Amino acid sequence: MKAGVLALQGDFREHARVFADLGVAVREVRTQAELAEVHCLAIPGGESTTIGKLARSAGLVEPIRQRVLDGMPVLGTCAGMIVMATEVKGGEPLLSLMDITVCRNAYGRQVDSFETELTVAGIDHPVRGVFIRAPWVERVGQGVDVLAEHGGHPVVVEQGNLLATSFHPELIGETKLHEYLLGKV
Ligand code: GLN
Repeated sequence: MKAGVLALQGDFREHARVFADLGVAVREVRTQAELAEVHCLAIPGGESTTIGKLARSAGLVEPIRQRVLDGMPVLGTCAGMIVMATEVKGGEPLLSLMDITVCRNAYGRQVDSFETELTVAGIDHPVRGVFIRAPWVERVGQGVDVLAEHGGHPVVVEQGNLLATSFHPELIGETKLHEYLLGKV
């Protein structure tokens, strides 16, 4: 079993560390050949526009979409959630895989960042996360389950093999969502 981390921009090293903490082999993914080696993929937080640009020029957009349609589980955090969404306010969809509408930067600016503990359906311990210029989920499609909310907004959503969070679990070494993802492999 090898866990992949999309390593184009953002906090991919932190995701890799979480997988390593869980005792799983990790591969940083920057090419189609590296993508072919992994059994699941984390898409990190960072800047969704930059991740999009780099993913396009690396020729990774269609191959990632195809792997997901073939069943590969994906966890996207913050910018990673934006990259997975079918509709993006204040930006453009990239992978268009998860039937959600997100509004970029809706939680405010860098100075409005905060850390909190959340109850997530299907995970029996509180989950910690950091919100940094996080996206707001404005709409979820019919096939999307809301696993956690904060302030009346969905912040953990799941659609089949896809899992997305508005916040960063990886920045504080929170491992439970990655564990949940690995359970889908
Ligand atoms: N605001 C960033 C974006 O729109 C996401 C921020 C983050 O990943 N912490 O891509």
